[in-house]
Amino acid sequence: MISTSASTVPARRLVRDALLDAAAVLLPVRCAGCSVPDRSICSACLRSLVPQERSRTVAGVTVCSGLDYDDVPRAVLLSFKDAGRVDAAPALASALRSAVVAASAGEQVVPVLIPSTRSAWRRRGYHPTGMILSRSRVLVPPLWRALRLTRQTSDQAGLSSSEREHNREGSVVASARVAGRRCLLVDDIVTTGATLAEATRAITAAGGVVVGAATIAQTPRRR
Ligand SMILES: [Zn+2]
Repeated sequence: MISTSASTVPARRLVRDALLDAAAVLLPVRCAGCSVPDRSICSACLRSLVPQERSRTVAGVTVCSGLDYDDVPRAVLLSFKDAGRVDAAPALASALRSAVVAASAGEQVVPVLIPSTRSAWRRRGYHPTGMILSRSRVLVPPLWRALRLTRQTSDQAGLSSSEREHNREGSVVASARVAGRRCLLVDDIVTTGATLAEATRAITAAGGVVVGAATIAQTPRRR
């Protein structure tokens, strides 16, 4: 005889699902990763956001990341950055935290955020990586606003790597507060590294040392 699903599903799970469904009615959301109409981030997508440390050297800087910029992490990061899904911040914060811990290698390095352009600020009203960083409970407090754009660069998306390099060249200046400090660059994702190279140049010029970089995700190596 075939039993009904209700009798095979544990009661506790039914209650939990009912509560979550009730919450979803009050605050209708879709999963920021796969868009199932339901919770902020569904349990399957949360599993894809469990940090797995990876590192590579880009533009002479060792970059540690918590996730591959692909599939679910990519979808969640894009919803967070461009669709106002700030509810995804805690899930992304653990990936950044793990990247910062790996990149610091037990050393007391001060996190320094890559600045965003004024147009990005206006569009979003917040600095996405800054919001994640402030929630990632890193050991050494970040040196907020240590880097500043001296001119507004065009959006990096859609530019070739040499165009990106040219776009960023001489565009960042570091505060005198970085002098004599060992700094860890923090950004959302790493692509060509033109931004990292420019930030490193600026920090070095101001008397600081860049020991590496930490990002939430990095583009996966070609399989
Ligand atoms: Zn999902």
